[in-house]
Amino acid sequence: MERYDCVVVGAGPVGSAAAERAASLGLSTLVLEEHASIGHPVQCAGLLSTAAFAECLVSDRPVRNRVQGARIVSDLGGELLFDAGCTKALIVDRGDLDLEMARAAAYAGAEFRLKSPVRQVVDDRVVTGGPNATEIGFGILIAADGPKGTVARSLGMDRSPTHLAGVQADVLLPEAVDTRFVELYPNAAPEFFAWRIPVSDRVVRVGLCGETGVREQFQAFLSRWPGSVIHHVSGTIPLGTMPRTYGKRTLFVGDAAGLAKPTSGGGIYTGVRSGRYAAETAAACLEAGDLSDEALAAYEVRWKADYGRELALGYRLQLARRRVTPEEIDRLIRAFGSPKVIQAIVESGDMDRPSALLSRLCRMPSLWSVLPILMRLGIAEIVGRDSS
Ligand SMILES: Cc1cc2nc3c(=O)[nH]c(=O)nc-3n(C[C@H](O)[C@H](O)[C@H](O)COP(=O)(O)OP(=O)(O)OC[C@H]3O[C@@H](n4cnc5c(N)ncnc54)[C@H](O)[C@@H]3O)c2cc1C
Repeated sequence: MERYDCVVVGAGPVGSAAAERAASLGLSTLVLEEHASIGHPVQCAGLLSTAAFAECLVSDRPVRNRVQGARIVSDLGGELLFDAGCTKALIVDRGDLDLEMARAAAYAGAEFRLKSPVRQVVDDRVVTGGPNATEIGFGILIAADGPKGTVARSLGMDRSPTHLAGVQADVLLPEAVDTRFVELYPNAAPEFFAWRIPVSDRVVRVGLCGETGVREQFQAFLSRWPGSVIHHVSGTIPLGTMPRTYGKRTLFVGDAAGLAKPTSGGGIYTGVRSGRYAAETAAACLEAGDLSDEALAAYEVRWKADYGRELALGYRLQLARRRVTPEEIDRLIRAFGSPKVIQAIVESGDMDRPSALLSRLCRMPSLWSVLPILMRLGIAEIVGRDSS
């Protein structure tokens, strides 16, 4: 039977980041991907903060547009514009991004095997199906198999508590639009939010996420933008981390572990970082000859120290957001329109680590009129913790 130090399940951005790091550290590394090509089907809006894009270590080739802020629209009259005046986020083609990250892993020495769906994990080997059906042994398994979580199911591990459905379309518009700003519509998707992202001056990416009524909400939202739909996307975002992201010789990374940011659904920044932490933990455990759960726990310690608190707070905020009415959202948006608040957001807004900004905002007198709503969202708790 073939055997590798490290087998990575899934050639998404997180699997490729993990494989690149594992191979660079000298581990014999195999990536198993169920599809016949990497990067397809795309299940992403491709909106990455500049920090998230930098984590991917790719060229500018996947970049389709650069944005400098966001417009938030309540649909009840309230509207807000944050304009940083410089690039804050990039719109990428995920197909190109995933492929470039996989190439980097292959250059580092990782082997890729496509059309190789992992069906089962038995002790220290994976069983693949499809045309390449076989069994492959591993020292450590990195589960980067995204929302479906076949590896977690096979090992009987508890998974993320929440799974949001996302639907999106690229629309070719009859007229040019401003390409500088992303638009967010919280009331168009009461359990999350809807977005309109400019891919170019004539193409916008419109979509939303939620748990219930998603198709109907999406059709209503899509009808606001007359034009031709040129690409459809649907996918799942697991929210809330797995209770334990390691065990049984396996490390769970990215969406497979529920590491997407619950307030935005963005999973690239946290996921890619988790992939590298997993590869480094795998290398250390193999070097020490200790593959026990106690040794693998070092992986979870690392990602938690990095952004565990952000994810935990974000998850509570996401659940509480569902209890806020459309009228309250409108009041929040109007209150956030004060010049001082906008300045604070432009100065210290961080798409990947929002808790520091929230803490600063709650202390601003201009927002005290909406403090009861912020408290219901649990934001007061963030302030309390930061000042303790
Ligand atoms: C509608 C939508 C919009 C989004 N927008 C954004 C955004 O704008 N910005 C952002 O940062 N994030 C966004 N996300 C989230 C982002 O797409 C994910 O967080 C990210 O793709 C996670 O990467 P990953 O490598 O963990 O998983 P994935 O990208 O899902 O990759 C998993 C890979 O594993 C393969 N696989 C699965 N099961 C098996 C198996 N059994 N055997 C072999 N291979 C397998 C899959 O084919 C896939 O290639 C969005 C998600 C959705 C659904």
